[in-house]
Amino acid sequence: MSDCLFCKIAAGEIPCSMVYEDEDFLAFHDIHPKAPTHVLVIPKFHLASLADATEQDTALLGLMMDRVRHIAAAELKLDAGYRVILNVREGGGQEIDHIHAHILGGKKLPF
Ligand code: 5GP
Repeated sequence: MSDCLFCKIAAGEIPCSMVYEDEDFLAFHDIHPKAPTHVLVIPKFHLASLADATEQDTALLGLMMDRVRHIAAAELKLDAGYRVILNVREGGGQEIDHIHAHILGGKKLPF
């Protein structure tokens, strides 16, 4: 989508601090980190939110969780554990309408 911030980051039109990239996904540091490690994992394909996914997006969602697992272990070395957050639409605190998983870690997180 032409006016989507994360589509522009995925296209390389807006810079990011990248931690992982493959053909379908990108991970980069959050600009306003809420933990010592705070990384966003996005599909390059534009999907507004989990609530907008259909059965056709099942594979994409599964792959996204697999990339989260891989990035947390292999790239971020969060062996002690981490939190994964998906904010969904405005009521769930979603500010950017392009589905993304937050990976938070690097310290013991409060509830
Ligand atoms: P949401 O609230 O939509 O779940 O999370 C959006 C996240 O994107 C926020 O944590 C915010 O700090 C981050 N963010 C917003 N704009 C940018 C940006 O231009 N670059 C990066 N790296 N992160 C951003």
